[in-house]
Amino acid sequence: MNAEIIAVGTELLLGEILDTNSQYLAQQLTGLGVDLYFVTHVGDNLGRVSDTVRRGLERSDLVIMTGGLGPTEDDLTREAIANLLGEEMVVQPELEAHLRGWYARRNRPMPEMNIKQATLIPSARAVDNPIGTAPGWWVEHDGKHIACMPGVPHEMRKMWEEQIAPRLEIGGGGGVLITRTLKTVGQGESNVAEMVAELINSPNPTLATYAKQDGVHLRIAAKASSREAALGMIEPFEGRVRGYVGKYVYGIGEETLAGAIGTLLARHGLTVATMESASGGLLASYFTDTPGASEWFKGGVVAYTAELKVASGVDHEIVERHGTVAAETAMAMATACRERLGADAGIGITGVAGPTSVEGKPVGTAHIALDFLGETRVASTEWSTTRAEFKRRCVMDGLYLLWRALKKRDESGAGSGSEATQS
Ligand code: AMP
Ligand code: MG
Repeated sequence: MNAEIIAVGTELLLGEILDTNSQYLAQQLTGLGVDLYFVTHVGDNLGRVSDTVRRGLERSDLVIMTGGLGPTEDDLTREAIANLLGEEMVVQPELEAHLRGWYARRNRPMPEMNIKQATLIPSARAVDNPIGTAPGWWVEHDGKHIACMPGVPHEMRKMWEEQIAPRLEIGGGGGVLITRTLKTVGQGESNVAEMVAELINSPNPTLATYAKQDGVHLRIAAKASSREAALGMIEPFEGRVRGYVGKYVYGIGEETLAGAIGTLLARHGLTVATMESASGGLLASYFTDTPGASEWFKGGVVAYTAELKVASGVDHEIVERHGTVAAETAMAMATACRERLGADAGIGITGVAGPTSVEGKPVGTAHIALDFLGETRVASTEWSTTRAEFKRRCVMDGLYLLWRALKKRDESGAGSGSEATQS
């Protein structure tokens, strides 16, 4: 089966809102093994919406629409379909009763223009919307289907999950496609691709690499007649992928690097603390995005000035001799927060986010240090990028240092696990 998405709304074309509905639907269709060939944005204009739906019916088995089901005059999805099919919208007594009931329960009068939400055309059946007023439409025409859902994202998702997706599973696409994403850190995309070169041309399961903000992802996709069969293909293939890149894999699917670190820290009964300058607390924010972080994250200091670094335990002589942006200072920050906050690991981040240089050190200079159980190492790099991206990269490097130290300790079965090197 192939499908296309039509997202209706002038606000999409004006750039006022981002079309997250199509992103969600595209991911869902992939999971169902339905091929998605087109995504269209069209404004609230009767002729253009009609035209777009007509083209959709000519070239796709399934046309999925979101938006334009509201009560106001510019919500025209129903009218556009009725127009195209030459059918009349007729108020359905049971839909009208449901709609009036919705308002009555909230003690609000129903604006009469809402009545169009209770209409159908002969080719359409109503799709229940338990959390909003507008029901969807499921239209059948010449063996093709149109699924119309509201634009409000949570209403659309619920309708999709509970009403539309099950119809597609029963209707049977070309089998199911199951995907699993392994997330790696520490290697560039081409390195990772090289490591799995033997598997990259596999026809089924397929394997693809993606360079993402949180590392290089390896996406395994298996197509089979059933979910169980696809999973049965993924398992052994994943084992082969891990055989090549396993030491860089920190998680699968929605797992985060901070979360993987939390799991390792908790397993070993260890804790971490932070002292951040250039990253302004972003590392602490990443840690606290993880549920249960209080078990292993002691806390952090945002020590932006030299004075606060010293007040937070960094030796003033180090700052005076090397400056605030230096490998030595980063290491002293890592040790100071580890000791002051009573943690097993400390991460210190200092750098020049830009746009002007600091202490004669160029924009993009970054020093990220880890003190793990008294052994200190530092990563020094240089990235010229936006401030936001610079901060994010500093944080990713700090996470990587700690994750690697923990993984070593994990694999060696306790012991001190960190190597004291300086790069
Ligand atoms: P509508 O059903 O067109 O009246 O849309 C209702 C509201 O849902 C809009 O005001 C937007 O805030 C939101 N919305 C509509 N279409 C989308 C979309 N494609 N992606 C995300 N949000 C949307
Ligand atoms: Mg709209």
